Order: sequence, then C-alpha cells, then structure tokens
Amino acid sequence: MSECDPCTCGEALSRVYDYLDQELDATSAVAIAGHLEACPPCAEQYRLEQVVKTLIQRTCCEERAPEELRVRIVARISEVRITYRRQP
Ligand SMILES: [Zn+2]
Repeated sequence: MSECDPCTCGEALSRVYDYLDQELDATSAVAIAGHLEACPPCAEQYRLEQVVKTLIQRTCCEERAPEELRVRIVARISEVRITYRRQP
C-alpha cells in the first residue's frame, strides 16, 4: 500500500508541516504516518522539520515563527549537515 513513488512523496512532504502541527484530519495523518514509516527519505525530512520546529519553539514563544527565521534555521542545519559529511 505505502509504496514510495514521487507523487506520494511530494504529497507527504507538502503535508509534513500540517502533520507536525497536528492540523490534519485523522485519515490524512494516518496516510502520512504510514508513508513516513515506509519511506526513509521522507522520514528524514520529517525529522529535520521536527528539529526546526523545536528550535523555533525554543527561540520564541509565538505559535508560528516568522518565515525568515525558519529559513535561517533550515539553512543553518543544512550547513551543519554538509560540514559534518565532508569530514573524513
Ligand atoms: Zn516518501
């Protein structure tokens, strides 16, 4: 059922944020959860979004962080990951 094809991945990733925020209806949430379990790349992306969300929550008390802050944090995490991978 939960095969990993680009269409499903695109849909899953586009809804990862709503899933994190628990804004999805039960059916969609189950579908996303199932896909994340079956698809490591999407699960990795979900994990990254989770980290970003946690960082943003620590950084400010607002419910939704400004997009600019989110972009900066994502960029910073990507940097760290790239640096880490380059090390021998
Ligand atoms: Zn996927």
